[in-house]
Amino acid sequence: MSLPIAELVPQHIRAFEAYVPSRPDPELMRVYKVDHLHRLNNNENALGPPPAARRVIDAFEPPRSAIYPSGDSFFLRTALGERFGMDPERFLVGNGSCEVIASVIKAFCEKGDNIITADKTFAVYEWVAEFSGFQAKLIALKNYAFDPEAMLAAMDSRTKILFVCNPNNPTGTWWDRETMERFLRAVDGRAIVVLDEAYREYVDDERFPDGMELMERHKNVVVFRTFSKMYALAGLRVGYVCGNKEVVDYIRRTHIVYSVNGLGQTAAVAALSDDVEHIAATRRMVDRARELLLPAFRELDLPYVSGAGNFVMVQTPASDSLIYRQLMRRGVMVRTMTGFRFPNWVRISLVQEPVMLDFLAAFREVIGQVRADGDADVQA
Ligand SMILES: *Cc1c(COP(=O)(O)O)cnc(C)c1O
Repeated sequence: MSLPIAELVPQHIRAFEAYVPSRPDPELMRVYKVDHLHRLNNNENALGPPPAARRVIDAFEPPRSAIYPSGDSFFLRTALGERFGMDPERFLVGNGSCEVIASVIKAFCEKGDNIITADKTFAVYEWVAEFSGFQAKLIALKNYAFDPEAMLAAMDSRTKILFVCNPNNPTGTWWDRETMERFLRAVDGRAIVVLDEAYREYVDDERFPDGMELMERHKNVVVFRTFSKMYALAGLRVGYVCGNKEVVDYIRRTHIVYSVNGLGQTAAVAALSDDVEHIAATRRMVDRARELLLPAFRELDLPYVSGAGNFVMVQTPASDSLIYRQLMRRGVMVRTMTGFRFPNWVRISLVQEPVMLDFLAAFREVIGQVRADGDADVQA
């Protein structure tokens, strides 16, 4: 007699609710009956990759698909080493930085251990910990920012990793040098501190702490960066961790070799070599988009949160899923924030002016409609 499958499954897996990715654009366009779709849901860089990366992608020869890539992203690590003035052995490249999150947790956590992060941040830290059977202690944001004191207070002898998203997705808040230094001194090497700097290239402020420099004084610090956001290579899946050699050597033991495809590796090398004008142009686009959106939110009398990064959040006078569907019917895809524990907020990626104007026109219409319906309900 065979066992019910569920009895083969650990309790923490049975309790875990899988994330459901949204359907592909053509499917969504069919369902919502639209002939275009502005993707404002994933903080992608709408300018696309820098020219040098485009050339590499164009030149990709199909026979190369038959050949395994470098198993440890040799040339990309060399390029990163040169860029940051560090030994290439201190970099570990993953299939997006999401893969590296899993590798770090596998390297440091065992049964009974926990990780600490915020309740309203990038959810992958929490998910990987939980589906791996480790507790994720989620600390409430304070004024929309990570709360260092509360995170320190939550540490116990089984805390192995603290994840700090700096700047934070989705609130755009970040710790300055002083806050970071104080925090790291208080952690005092008792746990690994991950600084997820996925949006680092969007910050232009001297007070922003340089994770690469911090790890010289704090051996327990590792930095995550990605080619998915500023470098616009999200579809090729390339991210990495940088840390002290001893720490990275342990993480490497748990990391799948050959997980980063060959085109992704070469495109990332090219992107890195050609990023100056690209970063400047992206920042200009994002600044302009913010200038358009924020006054409109104020005029609509809607609370918003806007910080560093290529996104803003706005609170909506109806359920975020209703707003999402109404915007989809107008060809605009935003991110509902209930899943981020911000019920009835949406997050909007900051892209080119014409698209932002399209978004605003659709958004005003939807908000107007929702408010009119609300009034009608009250009168009825
Ligand atoms: C987008 C994002 C990442 C990047 O994920 P990839 O797997 O590299 O695409 C990591 N951290 C945060 C906070 C992000 O928003």
